Amino acid sequence: MRYISTRGQAPALNFEDVLLAGLATDGGLYVPENLPRFTQEEIASWAGLPYHELAFRVMRPFVTGSIPDADFKKILEETYGVFAHNAVAPLRQLNGNEWVLELFHGPTLAFKDFALQLLGRLLDYVLEKRGERVVIVGATSGDTGSAAIEGCKRCENVDIFILHPHNRVSEVQRRQMTTIFGENIHNIAIEGNFDDCQEMVKASFADQGFLKGTRLVAVNSINWARIMAQIVYYFHAALQLGGPARSVSFSVPTGNFGDIFAGYLARNMGLPINQLIVATNRNDILHRFMSGNQYVKETLHATLSPSMDIMVSSNFERLLFDLHGRNGAAIAGLMDSFKQGGGFSVEQERWTEARKLFDSLAVDDAQTCETIAEVFQQTGEVLDPHTAIGVKAARECRRSLDIPMVILGTAHPVKFPDAVEKAGVGKALELPAHLSDLFERDERCTVLPNDLKAVQSFVSQHGNRGKPL
Ligand SMILES: *Cc1c(COP(=O)(O)O)cnc(C)c1O
Repeated sequence: MRYISTRGQAPALNFEDVLLAGLATDGGLYVPENLPRFTQEEIASWAGLPYHELAFRVMRPFVTGSIPDADFKKILEETYGVFAHNAVAPLRQLNGNEWVLELFHGPTLAFKDFALQLLGRLLDYVLEKRGERVVIVGATSGDTGSAAIEGCKRCENVDIFILHPHNRVSEVQRRQMTTIFGENIHNIAIEGNFDDCQEMVKASFADQGFLKGTRLVAVNSINWARIMAQIVYYFHAALQLGGPARSVSFSVPTGNFGDIFAGYLARNMGLPINQLIVATNRNDILHRFMSGNQYVKETLHATLSPSMDIMVSSNFERLLFDLHGRNGAAIAGLMDSFKQGGGFSVEQERWTEARKLFDSLAVDDAQTCETIAEVFQQTGEVLDPHTAIGVKAARECRRSLDIPMVILGTAHPVKFPDAVEKAGVGKALELPAHLSDLFERDERCTVLPNDLKAVQSFVSQHGNRGKPL
């Protein structure tokens, strides 16, 4: 499998190189040159497979030529073996034909473990083979950081630096990062917001001199391997609900557009998906595009669903690339005008094409709390605020009651006690056993100003298992 850049100017890469690449050299994102397509019979034959075996079948075409089957199978069995639920991603029924796909049974209690547990193992495998070391610099609005640190903490050849916005992640989220110690683990709190953190990561990829020749790897959802891993659970959910003979719809709590883009790919690979709902919080750039063809940056609002607090959605570029007939020059132009003027619209027929599959809703904090309370009254289930936004959007935007609606349950409610408390469900939430002493553990973290040079010099001073590069 070969991968090409959405901006058309960077060289095509194989899987191994795309795993290590992050952003393409032309500023674009890598996508598969040709998407594999499965027949309905093939997909149907996967019903009942354990999660890791389904994962092998769905992802195999993407890694062919880079990882032998036997090794890939072993990696996947280990990856999904760490999840606390035997079904890995169980479905829970909320209402008639309405389901939550629980993606929060991994080590850090959010869906990001599906991709980052795999990414850490894939990196270790590839780096060991090559005899190389890398540095990861990643930005997090909360959940990516802990999932990346958990995924990489045992990697021999990786030093990981995670930037989070100082005082803007929940205490559980912060502690899930800062209480994991290792000479290769570095937590940095930036005096700024998530987009500041993300910009620093992007700038570091653009100019890597501070790394003195060490390779920089991305763990943000711009990394193709993360998207790839997330395709699997769309198949997993649909197969349990009568797919592929029957089509299924999904409502996806969305920030950077990575998770829902994986659903879009699952559909293009042959899985019958009727509708994909982009569920956003008040940071609604994607909802404004889907509802009014305006992709315009606005100010950032802090919400009760901080993992979706973004101003721009980096993976949206991957969808735009397809909507523009995979014309890299057109995407480079759009992104340029976005950077300069702060916004764009696409031609009407391209937007109409997107709207055949996608619907959207922006949900504010008050509605989020109302939904948590409503679902608790209906079912006794406590939803986390991100999942609640998915439920609200599913209920508002649903096209057909006959088609099963699956809401991606992106996090465990215990990670976001503020929202749950505000919703007044009055049910004490307990940390799962492996995290029960989280609030007693020591923390390790460095606070740095919102300044690229300060961050880069910190990385070069500590990038070799705590020593200078
Ligand atoms: C990361 C995250 C999201 C947003 O996912 P994207 O792939 O960035 O769209 C939603 N909910 C939770 C809990 C998250 O951690």
